[in-house]
Amino acid sequence: MTRRLGSGSLVIATHNAGKLKEIGALLEPYGIKCLSAGSLGLPEPAETGTTFAQNALLKARAAAEASGLTALADDSGLSVAALDNRPGVYTADWAERQWFEGAPGRDWYMAMGKVEGMLAEKGESVDRSAAFHCVLALAWPDGEYAIYEGKCEGSLTWPPRGTLGFGYDPVFVPTGRSQTFAEIAPEEKHAISHRADAFAKLVAEQFGR
Ligand code: IMP
Repeated sequence: MTRRLGSGSLVIATHNAGKLKEIGALLEPYGIKCLSAGSLGLPEPAETGTTFAQNALLKARAAAEASGLTALADDSGLSVAALDNRPGVYTADWAERQWFEGAPGRDWYMAMGKVEGMLAEKGESVDRSAAFHCVLALAWPDGEYAIYEGKCEGSLTWPPRGTLGFGYDPVFVPTGRSQTFAEIAPEEKHAISHRADAFAKLVAEQFGR
């Protein structure tokens, strides 16, 4: 049987304040107080895994080992069927622009264009199906761990539509919908997303809900 989280503090292995807030709000009802790896001054490990699960686990383990507390990490991205599931774990990297006017950063339109260009090369009848993935890893300081995998299936559209959300949302149409993730209200997206799926699995197993 999978080990259960006790009440108390959980380190969220992220330096992203938005993620901490979102995850903190999801776990608060279960008596879990979330601290961020950033606020504890923990280093960010290099994401050297080749799967979402490997990356989530290496981040959770690094935070658990460094803090002595149970840690939770996530890794997410987009897999495009016709591109052999790329960009996959490199989803954020595909948006990385090199030094531009003195500052590095991410350009999501460039990344969406890169995916579209690769699909276009395969011809008009290319399979446009894609899925967002989110893997959550819980790691205890003694090495025990649990993994929860979430998925949201859909297809890619072009040109991008909508101004809500982030990342690749403007080109992703979830199955059964006609709007992109960037046209769907955030509360609605949060109910059907890959992250919601992964959290539902964690909550079901950890808290029996
Ligand atoms: P990470 O999990 O923080 O490493 O981020 C992976 C990347 O996947 C993000 O930077 C986004 O580009 C992309 N991604 C993950 N979830 C979503 C989503 O819900 N919408 C759009 N893009 C996403």
